[in-house]
Amino acid sequence: MPRMKKTSVEERLKRAMREVIRSMDFAAEHPALAKRGNSREAKRIATIYQQLALAWDFLALQCKHWDGFVKKRDGFRCCPICGTIEDAPESWLLLRRNGRKTIGRLTRPTSREIFANKRAALLLDDTLNFHGAKFRVEVGHARRSSLFRAPAITVAAHRTVTCKESGVECSIDDHMIRLRIEPRRARTAPPGGAFPWELPRKALKRFPVLLEYDERGRFVGLCIFRPVATRRPPPAAAVKTQGSG
Ligand SMILES: [Zn+2]
Repeated sequence: MPRMKKTSVEERLKRAMREVIRSMDFAAEHPALAKRGNSREAKRIATIYQQLALAWDFLALQCKHWDGFVKKRDGFRCCPICGTIEDAPESWLLLRRNGRKTIGRLTRPTSREIFANKRAALLLDDTLNFHGAKFRVEVGHARRSSLFRAPAITVAAHRTVTCKESGVECSIDDHMIRLRIEPRRARTAPPGGAFPWELPRKALKRFPVLLEYDERGRFVGLCIFRPVATRRPPPAAAVKTQGSG
């Protein structure tokens, strides 16, 4: 049962956390630290305390704050298990090598306000390099932009996810799914665009695009065939290794 497994992870972490905190208390109250001057023993105890603090950091990364956050005397809300402050910026992530990896939560623009500039409107801009594929998630509230034009225009709130793989870029937002198989070169005109029915049949025949539709004739997707030259097979040796491994 998955619930039982989760509880055991939770229990194990709670116990480890309690033990580390007890050891830290032990080190902090060591008589060598109370004596005047920096004895060798005091330095050693201080180092052990630092190492335990590292262990605490590592354990806290695994905590899912199962019991929620509790308000402390100084006004902060802390996790009673690991001591993490609610909404505090975290600089490290702990990911499992095997199994599903989760980073962050689904973020969407929530404010109805129009922000003054890009920086103020930005909610999230994060990138991930995953086994050679690149991902970027950008989320922002609506904002004013005076870039290139006056008067300023309003840029709509957005959540844009971009994936880059072997020269292909796919970006998805609420209004559009854009696929680019040729990167745009600097100082060149933006590519032209037309709906299929606007193009002559002769031009269409050169485009390796398959429009996909269901039994009711509804558009459900599209497929682009890549030029043969870019689909280079892996070297024979590599294939052999994969097959035997
Ligand atoms: Zn916690």
